[in-house]
Amino acid sequence: SEAISQSGLIGDDSGVIKFVKWAKAELPDLVEGKSYILRNVVTDEYQGRFSVKLNRTSEILELDSQVQAAEVPRTSGQVKISEIKEPGRWVDVKGKVVSLWEANSEAISQSGLIGDDSGVIKFVKWAKAELPDLVEGKSYILRNVVTDEFQERFSIKLNRTSEILETDEEIEVSSQTVTFAGAIVDVQKGSGLIKRCPVCKRSLAKGICGEHGKVEGSYDLRIKAAIDDGEKVQDILINRERTEGLIDMTLDQAREMAMEALDHEVILSIIEEKLVGRYYTATGPRIDRYLLVERIEEMPPATLAEVEELLKEVA
Ligand SMILES: [Zn+2]
Repeated sequence: SEAISQSGLIGDDSGVIKFVKWAKAELPDLVEGKSYILRNVVTDEYQGRFSVKLNRTSEILELDSQVQAAEVPRTSGQVKISEIKEPGRWVDVKGKVVSLWEANSEAISQSGLIGDDSGVIKFVKWAKAELPDLVEGKSYILRNVVTDEFQERFSIKLNRTSEILETDEEIEVSSQTVTFAGAIVDVQKGSGLIKRCPVCKRSLAKGICGEHGKVEGSYDLRIKAAIDDGEKVQDILINRERTEGLIDMTLDQAREMAMEALDHEVILSIIEEKLVGRYYTATGPRIDRYLLVERIEEMPPATLAEVEELLKEVA
């Protein structure tokens, strides 16, 4: 921003805080590694994070003695997601949020997947980080995040010293597209007609968002199901558009039906009735445990000729 002449982090032995020096303040630039007394700065807060602002009335005095600053992890710079191959590294990542998951712990404020043109990785934002929420479909530069590893899968963690910058840059997300054919054996809870938080898009539980409390949610349709090919079971996630096609019902029609029945679960029952036990071929990127369905087709039942052919083989 042109209004800002300099910004960064300043620390003492108790911690580190962001500073912003306004252009209008007409103050000299601070130098990394040097120590200062910043007089008459004003504290500020944005989304639960504090900062100090240097304005016209502020003063900068350089110190000869060094102030011992609390440890600030050093990032090894911006990396591609596919380059994340070891835990405990501090990095910057630029990517697009491809999905958000329901947080299953109070210590976690948000988790999901972020991707760039080299791959996709899980991210976890700690509640203590006090960072703003990421929005599905938006692109960000995540500064100073730490890599982690669990069962040979890597993730990045956003903590107190991390920073989130939104970017307008269009980021192409690479992922491995797979095709999985089998019978749908289960339709999971959270499928059907759901409401999402208007802010973070998470699905609401009884009108309550885990992060934003009671909100006026917006309706969505989705299917979380398990498909079994006889050897493996794959979790699949089907978005509204494809769900509408599969159950031959629009979101509006589903809403009407749920209102008439005074029960949202009626849509889940319809999905179960239509899908469970039938054979499908699903294609899409496999991201963590889910195959995000981009194409799904019901496999035709075996024809009499095919059955006869099989019987001949057996005979
Ligand atoms: Zn929310």
